[in-house]
Amino acid sequence: MEPRLKIAIQKSGRLQEDSLRLLRECGIRVDDGKDQLRAQARNFPLDLLYLRNSDIPQYIEDGVAHAGILGENTWLEKQKDIRSVISLGFAKCRLSVAVSKTTEYPGVQWLQGKRIATSYPNSLRAFLEKHHIEAEIHEISGSVEIAPNIGLADAICDLVSSGSTLFQNGLEEKEVVLRSEAHLYANKQLDPAIGSILDKLIFRIQSVLEARQHRYLLMNAPVSSVERITQILPGMKSPTVMPLAVEGWCSIHTVIPEARFWDIIDELKASGAQGILITPIEKMIL
Ligand code: AMP
Repeated sequence: MEPRLKIAIQKSGRLQEDSLRLLRECGIRVDDGKDQLRAQARNFPLDLLYLRNSDIPQYIEDGVAHAGILGENTWLEKQKDIRSVISLGFAKCRLSVAVSKTTEYPGVQWLQGKRIATSYPNSLRAFLEKHHIEAEIHEISGSVEIAPNIGLADAICDLVSSGSTLFQNGLEEKEVVLRSEAHLYANKQLDPAIGSILDKLIFRIQSVLEARQHRYLLMNAPVSSVERITQILPGMKSPTVMPLAVEGWCSIHTVIPEARFWDIIDELKASGAQGILITPIEKMIL
């Protein structure tokens, strides 16, 4: 039988949709796992295992799954011997300590002797030890943010991204325990045949992630402005410059980091660029 790479992703939860979107953008056709625990890709030697998020590190360490998509926070919490292969740029969040907004909080020492509710006891313990604080850790598995309001804890330690859940519960973020985003993790001793399928997948993921961070930029400009515009553009190499049918004008094409577009747009216009178009790139191979 041909070897197949087994990748674990979340059965349900926040990471699932982005994980599936990434695999699909890599050209891998898979079902969404609604009524199944396992799905076979039709056009790539890959099987998906839909598992509980917190079980994934163990399955990767045991080799039941060769690799899996996880938040760094889960990896750090579970302390399994697996390796990060590539960071994926989604599910960015931080694990933070928050207290009621009415609390006078002079600094981390305030946590001394307090009760802190969390689903991440290991990460919190490491943070408290680093700051030489002894506190009581209450491990709860969900809805951590209501713990202070029902008198269960003085503080919480939970994942935060926009901060709106904390805000709705009258809490304020005070300490960042760690920062996290989704990574692809893998077993440390993969069979070479499986390793080479993983390498192909990583290559595809890299080209999708590069493409997401860049845009294709096209504009028309007087030929006399080309030199100035070229200096403004943070392109991959030098831009492509093509003549237009109208004498003295040309079309300039290049690829730029998405984040830079708004920084340079005014300069481009001031240099005579017109009809500026910016379009997404599907794949980008450097
Ligand atoms: P869940 O959907 O609650 O099972 O969360 C799965 C993973 O999604 C967590 O381990 C984090 O890596 C990530 N995550 C959870 N909450 C957030 C959040 N508020 N913002 C971004 N990512 C999050």
